[in-house]
Amino acid sequence: MSSLPRLVILDRDGVINLDSDDYIKSADEWIPIEGSLEAIARLNQAGILVAVASNQSGLGRGLFSPEDLNQMHAKFQRLLARLGGHVDAIFFCPHTPDAGCECRKPAPGLLRSVSLRFGLSLNSVPFIGDTKSDVEAARAARATPVLVRTGKGQRTLADNPELESLLCYADLAEAVDSLLEGSPLT
Ligand SMILES: [Zn+2]
Repeated sequence: MSSLPRLVILDRDGVINLDSDDYIKSADEWIPIEGSLEAIARLNQAGILVAVASNQSGLGRGLFSPEDLNQMHAKFQRLLARLGGHVDAIFFCPHTPDAGCECRKPAPGLLRSVSLRFGLSLNSVPFIGDTKSDVEAARAARATPVLVRTGKGQRTLADNPELESLLCYADLAEAVDSLLEGSPLT
């Protein structure tokens, strides 16, 4: 049986909460995917650090304010706390694609920030996402890419059949169960 990672990093929209092509712009629009919050609580109970790394270009586009984002994350933490769970850090990129920043995925900046925060190498740390840019960010940061079919995941796999060789799960709940059973991260 392989040892568990000390840290797991999650994309937000389409992995933890329902995604929308129109962006998630308010706490009201922030709705958890069934089973995702319970899965995060299971990671907490296993003593694994949980961080979120999320592109939020809606900020740079002026679609919502930093206060709106704070309220989304307050709702997230409040719902999670009811289940005895928490996230240890939330990192987000506020920039638009043309800003040329180093944090917007597929760049590895957000994941590197998580690594620095916890003083942990990302080697064998799963980054669970639903898009090709999540996979590319994981690879660029030398983390382990994991895909879920929620959010844009199904579309990502249809458009990029080569990604089917990665670890793929129906949703975060299934990914976390597999991880906690000690299935190897390749
Ligand atoms: Zn950025």
